[in-house]
Amino acid sequence: MEKLLNYINGEFQAASSGNFFENIAPATGKPYSWIPDSDEDDVNRAVDAAQTAFSSWSKLSNEERSEWLQRLANGIAAKMDLFVAAESKDNGKPLKLAAHVDIPRAVQNFSFFATAIIHYASESHYMVGTGVNYTLRKPIGVVGCISPWNLPLYLFTWKIAPALAAGNCVVAKPSEVTPYTAFLLCKVMDEIQFPKGVLNIVHGFGHKTGDAIVRHPLTKAISFTGGTSTGKTIASIAAPMFKKLSLELGGKNPNIIFDDCDFDEMLATTMRSSFANQGQICLCGSRIFVQRGIYEKFKNAFVAKVQKSKVSYPDDPQAHLGAVVSKPHMEKVLSYIELAKQEGGTVLTGGHRVQLDAPYDEGYYIAPTVIEGLAYNCRTNQEEIFGPVVTITPFDTEEEALMMANSTDYGLSATIWTTNLERAHRMADNIQAGIVWINAWLVRDLRTPFGGVKSSGVGREGGWEALRFFTEPKNIFVKYS
Ligand code: NAD
Repeated sequence: MEKLLNYINGEFQAASSGNFFENIAPATGKPYSWIPDSDEDDVNRAVDAAQTAFSSWSKLSNEERSEWLQRLANGIAAKMDLFVAAESKDNGKPLKLAAHVDIPRAVQNFSFFATAIIHYASESHYMVGTGVNYTLRKPIGVVGCISPWNLPLYLFTWKIAPALAAGNCVVAKPSEVTPYTAFLLCKVMDEIQFPKGVLNIVHGFGHKTGDAIVRHPLTKAISFTGGTSTGKTIASIAAPMFKKLSLELGGKNPNIIFDDCDFDEMLATTMRSSFANQGQICLCGSRIFVQRGIYEKFKNAFVAKVQKSKVSYPDDPQAHLGAVVSKPHMEKVLSYIELAKQEGGTVLTGGHRVQLDAPYDEGYYIAPTVIEGLAYNCRTNQEEIFGPVVTITPFDTEEEALMMANSTDYGLSATIWTTNLERAHRMADNIQAGIVWINAWLVRDLRTPFGGVKSSGVGREGGWEALRFFTEPKNIFVKYS
């Protein structure tokens, strides 16, 4: 089996311990490569390399850094098919999803911030007759970027690109569940002779490698995307060290459907917002609230459509859903379906593991699942499941929908389906979420602020927000004599 390697100071290296652990393909349940089991020693070397590289990288002009980022984008784009196949194999997602979403977006992340940094400007504040303040936005130094498994290269590059564009050097760790495309990115860096030490990628477990990145006194900012409980742990370590923190955490997003909506468009989009990427997108709308007038119509049409969705191996061009990411995750999702039954829910469709023929017979497939009859405040409706499982719940009034939507600890995103303009804006204003889509889902403009409220996180990514996070403002006052 292939051995993945860390990329530190422009060199491929095994973990200093010499240890590796298995990387399993979710489609087959079989190991197919080895992941370096890195520890503090490896992270220390990566931080040293980044610290050394910082003095020259941060002094490059924005145009020069922009060119390097564009070369990374081009390097991935030139190997599109290789990256697509690797992402699909590593994560279990349908090949066509990796081809249409994951890898094109990773390319876009680099080219977006390559151009953004050229247009980034700082502010000045003029004081009549007294002088002028101007604000420099300086790179921070060495920053840590830690990402999850659901959109592996997409979310990894979403952090790395603005960090590099702003002039920082990076120590980054992809998820140990889906490390492969980050390894391919290192190969691209090697080919284009990306400056040594500027971007160091260290593989390994969160509690070891990730923890060492967070604890290192020289990583001055941590950008993390992952689960809320991991976010709490990271905050408890980083906050007393006064590190800058960006935490993009879990969600339990409402999809609120009023009876005056465009039914067909809502139905087609609700299929995607429920089950895209096997429901493993932090923005998926796992709690569907439907106004009572169209509840039965929606239920019948939705369940019929879900039953036609094909769960299959990722390379199957007909696959709507592939495998979920790992055995423990599959077991977690199935346990929530059992919990839903115990809480009085009725499984309308799905609710079980799907057994495919060999060689996929040990893969981690779950039928898309729709559950009704649950209280809005039961555990199934309050805790993040992060799989192909949605609940449907009727409501009568706008106030009731809002109360149920806002009832969880989370506040990442929400979708509202209505043709009533006033109501759409009123609901959007009152919903506790960082991102609201009206009559749409997952339409993304990379300039917009991205992130959540409550237990869904702290801080925002995207556009200027990301460049502000990865820079330190310094105000300078000049007195007029
Ligand atoms: P996770 O929290 O288990 O792991 C995320 C990353 O953190 C991994 O690289 C992991 O190795 C690392 N990590 C784990 N423990 C660590 C520690 N103690 N110190 C430092 N690093 C540590 O999350 P996951 O299971 O990989 O991803 C799923 C979660 O991510 C879901 O909750 C989902 O909602 C969330 N997510 C959020 C967003 C968002 O933008 N808000 C986007 C995608 C996923």
